[in-house]
Amino acid sequence: MFDRASVVTPGGVNSPVRAFRAVGGTPRFMVSGAGPYLTDADGREYVDLVCSWGPMILGHSHPEVIAAVQEAVSRGTSFGTPGEGEVALAEEIVARIEPVEQVRLVSSGTEATMSAIRLARGFTGRAKVVKFAGCYHGHVDALLAAAGSGVATFGLPDTPGVTGATAGDTVVLPYNDLDAVRAAFAAHPGEIACVITEASPGNMGVVPPADGFNAGLKELCAANGALYISDEVMTGFRTSKAGWYGVDGVRPDLMTFGKVMGGGFPAAAFGGRGDVMAHLAPAGPVYQAGTLSGNPVATAAGLAQLRLLDDAAYAKIDAVSAELRSLVGDALTKEGVAHTVSAASNMFSVFFRDEPVRDYDDAKKQDVFRFTAFFHAMLERGVYLPPSAFESWFVSTAHDERAVERIAAALPAAARAAAEATA
Ligand code: PLP
Repeated sequence: MFDRASVVTPGGVNSPVRAFRAVGGTPRFMVSGAGPYLTDADGREYVDLVCSWGPMILGHSHPEVIAAVQEAVSRGTSFGTPGEGEVALAEEIVARIEPVEQVRLVSSGTEATMSAIRLARGFTGRAKVVKFAGCYHGHVDALLAAAGSGVATFGLPDTPGVTGATAGDTVVLPYNDLDAVRAAFAAHPGEIACVITEASPGNMGVVPPADGFNAGLKELCAANGALYISDEVMTGFRTSKAGWYGVDGVRPDLMTFGKVMGGGFPAAAFGGRGDVMAHLAPAGPVYQAGTLSGNPVATAAGLAQLRLLDDAAYAKIDAVSAELRSLVGDALTKEGVAHTVSAASNMFSVFFRDEPVRDYDDAKKQDVFRFTAFFHAMLERGVYLPPSAFESWFVSTAHDERAVERIAAALPAAARAAAEATA
């Protein structure tokens, strides 16, 4: 299948993270998912610790989500008009996340962050965007500039196709460094439209904000007339009922969502302060649109999933995450492998180094070759981890004792493989 895919698709995949480039080998083609398990085209079953990169927080093929999708799809798949499902989903988001007064539905996290930035620029009349190295906000041109070191450096495009002009309005700063943010505001007075940050980063591995970091960002933005945009595409509706906002309570001006809120379908959103959202077309002048935005099937799936995510569901996810973190940590310790298990609520990842990781530079200092050996040993034993040392691991309400036992059984050999690996 991969050979066939490689003929008609660049690199054989429709999203680079799915390829096994970072770890080597052939990506598994999955044909079905049930609860915490995925089954590949050769009939092998895996305990899934990727959960579609976050969305499948209830596990695969949850009967109530599937029933909601079947009911919606039986009435048609897209109308290109307003519909009740999108209103209900927007109401659910607004009810859960207090700083969100209004929300606009889109189809991907990338669209959400791209649109939030356009809105911030339109609202403030300023051009520059501050982002942090190691934070991923989708493949928005202006946000792919992650290079550039030091304070207030103009971003350099990280990929061909992003022009210097586009990246030139992006200021890339080290994560968890409020002094760098202060210096950027001083270097560009009246020019910065917004600071965008992952609410708690999960795209350089899991690197939670240091105490007071998000609050400091909010304060600096407010003092300098810029908007504070919290990207909750990954953390939203996962790290608590109200996402990371439910954990740290720092009130953003704008927020972005995706993944969990789509129930496995393309649904995402951005929202926040009513006076800012009022600038969005057709209420205001900042244009933003989408043929499939608020799609009835996607909103039915998302709403069904969110309605099942009550306090008991989060308690279950938190508990299984804690259990896995301690199993992984114990297995690696037993084999003498330098590591840090880093967690933000129920999101976690393993860095193959001893020292704490506060930013992207720290994250890059890990022994990636040990992760590669660990990954393949787990895969051989039926555990599907993200195929990169710089990704969060995800669990679901469906990860029960049996699934945890299968992971526990695979860990000793994987930890040994990590210990024996050579660069
Ligand atoms: N923002 C964050 C924090 C993400 O983790 C991602 C995707 O992983 C995105 C934005 C982009 O979302 P999408 O892949 O739906 O475009």
